[in-house]
Amino acid sequence: MTGIDYDCEGCGRRHEGADGTEANPWPLLEFDGPEAYLRMNPWERVFRARATEEMCLIDNGDTVDCYVTGVLSLPVRDEEARLLYVPWVKLREADYVDLLENWGNLRFRGSYRGTLASVLPGCEHPQAVPVLVTAPGQLPPLIEPDPASGHALVREQREGISRQEAELRIRSMLLEDTEV
Ligand SMILES: [Zn+2]
Repeated sequence: MTGIDYDCEGCGRRHEGADGTEANPWPLLEFDGPEAYLRMNPWERVFRARATEEMCLIDNGDTVDCYVTGVLSLPVRDEEARLLYVPWVKLREADYVDLLENWGNLRFRGSYRGTLASVLPGCEHPQAVPVLVTAPGQLPPLIEPDPASGHALVREQREGISRQEAELRIRSMLLEDTEV
């Protein structure tokens, strides 16, 4: 078992043999914006969107789509390791405003319903999976697939995935990044 080698966007160094433990974590599976934003051309981004690393608004004329990022954590079966996605989630406007108003308040507890707005590697039909977004009294918001959705992610979060599958998903994402 050799683990994953990658250039870390966090600390700027190269990590070798990462095994997904807290001591030697895998890279975060992150996205530069919600899928709808990634698909926009530069003009659309300028005139219809407003985005930071954690929040994004897309203007549809008479409505505005609101997105935030959070952490979706999948355990590796029978191990301490974790695969961490940082996907975008679409929220109702009122919930988005509520979450933003309390963004820096570590005592705040909130819970919202949203839908997944990122294409996760290894996850079939991830977009529009209903999710629960909780502000758990700490940063950042946590994302859980809605158990009622019956999506494969629900079982993966409950029972974990294999180390092999986790590494496969990471490698496919690292490969995508180098192709760009
Ligand atoms: Zn690092």
